[in-house]
Amino acid sequence: MNVLINRLRLGIQLFMIFLAGFLFIAGVLYFNILFIIASLVLALIFGRLFCGWLCPLGFWTERVMGKISGDKELPKIFKTKIFRISFTISFLLIFVLLWYYFPFQGYLFPILMMGTMFGLATVLGFFSFDKAWCAYICPWGILSSVLGRYAPYQLGIRGDCEGCKACVEACPIDGAPEEAVENKRSEEPAEISSRCIRCLECSRACPNDSIDILGDS
Ligand code: SF4
Ligand code: SF4
Repeated sequence: MNVLINRLRLGIQLFMIFLAGFLFIAGVLYFNILFIIASLVLALIFGRLFCGWLCPLGFWTERVMGKISGDKELPKIFKTKIFRISFTISFLLIFVLLWYYFPFQGYLFPILMMGTMFGLATVLGFFSFDKAWCAYICPWGILSSVLGRYAPYQLGIRGDCEGCKACVEACPIDGAPEEAVENKRSEEPAEISSRCIRCLECSRACPNDSIDILGDS
């Protein structure tokens, strides 16, 4: 089942890359804005599902950078709230100014925006770990993570967890389930951090099948 889910995820990621390329060539130059809106709307329901299943840059960091990454710890400064908030605000400000001065004109806007994001994600992945950009820096990921806190469908760890932390080891987002595993003191399921991109690698690794979708019902 988990292998099937991973193949389905790969298929959807490849389809999204094809769709992005098709829209770009067809002249729908604001396709990246459509993708961003989709990611934020999805985040309100399922958390960062877009990041793990649909984002072309997520595909790049996972399936390409995953093979050549330096696999080193990201310097602590990049993980601090102050850095992440100021980077997100500056990025959004530049994004709005670019949009204001080049509103849907030519290829400059999407190339600049996507190029900057791919470039930064590649440099970070090369000198740190493959998904460092997705885990801590991506402004859309950070916004999705904030919105995802209120999503009715969360990924969680059930009461039968044995605390082996195989899920933490398997997580590409720098140990997103760790807090939930450590805080599990009751039979009640514990929600995994909103940094989680719903890739389900933790579920594949769990020997106990303790990771589940927690819904409203
Ligand atoms: S917690 Fe699980 S689903 Fe979330 S990012 Fe980590 S491995 Fe993927
Ligand atoms: S892998 Fe499963 S059993 Fe082990 S800590 Fe994670 S949720 Fe618990």
